[in-house]
Amino acid sequence: MPSPPDDCLFCSIVREGTYVRKEKGFVAIEDINPKADVHLLIIPERHVDSFREIGEFPAREAKRMLEFVADTAREAGLIDYRVQVNVGRSAGQTIFHLHWHVLGSHTHHADLSAHAETAVEVL
Ligand code: AMP
Ligand code: ZN
Repeated sequence: MPSPPDDCLFCSIVREGTYVRKEKGFVAIEDINPKADVHLLIIPERHVDSFREIGEFPAREAKRMLEFVADTAREAGLIDYRVQVNVGRSAGQTIFHLHWHVLGSHTHHADLSAHAETAVEVL
């Protein structure tokens, strides 16, 4: 397997950055330029350039990564949210270390409770 480039930003964030959540092999950080009320990035310690190389993750590690995405969203208080991976420059990828965007808003939570109250009133 090729070694990661020395100047990879996300490798250095994994090594010495500040993160909101960490589990063996993965960190979650806040996006520096948020596109939603909550915009987190899930970064695996293992450097692969993009989602195209997802096959380099052992199956158990890939599963744990997906669980880490879901657990991080839940712990951030999100119920409905988007998970996005940009693959390749023309698809918007700017950092060539695999990462998952988690984008959401806490107001979706409030919306859900508002709907629940309406439903009770109707009943
Ligand atoms: P992508 O365009 O899919 O490669 O996503 C890269 C994301 O990393 C963008 O949303 C950037 O705003 C974000 N980003 C770039 N530098 C940093 C940084 N130092 N800390 C946190 N997020 C960053
Ligand atoms: Zn890297």
